[in-house]
Amino acid sequence: MSRIIVLIGAPGAGKGTQARLLQSFLGVPQISTGDMFREMKTGASPLAREVQSIMDAGGLVSDEVTFRMVQERTSREDCSGSYVLDGFPRTPVQAKMLEQLAQDQGKQIEAVLIDVPFDQLEKRLTGRRSCPVCGEIYNIFSKPPEVEGRCDHHPEARLEHRSDDNPEMVKERLETYQLKTQPLLDYYAATERLRTIEATGTSEEIYQELERTLASNNASV
Ligand code: AMP
Repeated sequence: MSRIIVLIGAPGAGKGTQARLLQSFLGVPQISTGDMFREMKTGASPLAREVQSIMDAGGLVSDEVTFRMVQERTSREDCSGSYVLDGFPRTPVQAKMLEQLAQDQGKQIEAVLIDVPFDQLEKRLTGRRSCPVCGEIYNIFSKPPEVEGRCDHHPEARLEHRSDDNPEMVKERLETYQLKTQPLLDYYAATERLRTIEATGTSEEIYQELERTLASNNASV
């Protein structure tokens, strides 16, 4: 049975990096609600403005809007097999909505917690930079690009610093995570669908661990 791999982790835990690695090594599409909202908020519609103000405050977009977007995106052809969700679900209500979607799509959910000590997250977030062309994620402290401020694959592109990766918003986002997303861990653990990866090594080491974890389940990736 195909799987919906749900990556859970605090902001800065490296969900995006790991989802991208799964996509490039195993070919499973990476669906990032954060990326979709970042794209959406540049528009001029009332919804785009609403999304922008929520993101700028470190809060969460409504469960209904988020779910509709995930439902639409995962109904496309590339999600007919397994896929990875990066940043969804983020609330117990979204987790319930995903149960129904998984059932409709005939897929099994597997949640993986990327566990990073809380005191490391702030540095990871404030040091994070990404390429506007390919989305490659760097960190000025732990994974700097070869040339400062430039993507290794697209040297013409200046690396970007996410507007919500500043110290005040990081604090809000970490609080939102503790309050709204952490309850999901109990939810998936109670139904024996939670695996945990201690994410303290390099992103390559963490990825090896993630692949091992996913391979230890009989379902196909
Ligand atoms: P991320 O890139 O995953 O850190 O997401 C960036 C921002 O997008 C979050 O701080 C939220 O404002 C919004 N967002 C992303 N995913 C969700 C979700 N599943 N539910 C609600 N809001 C979300």
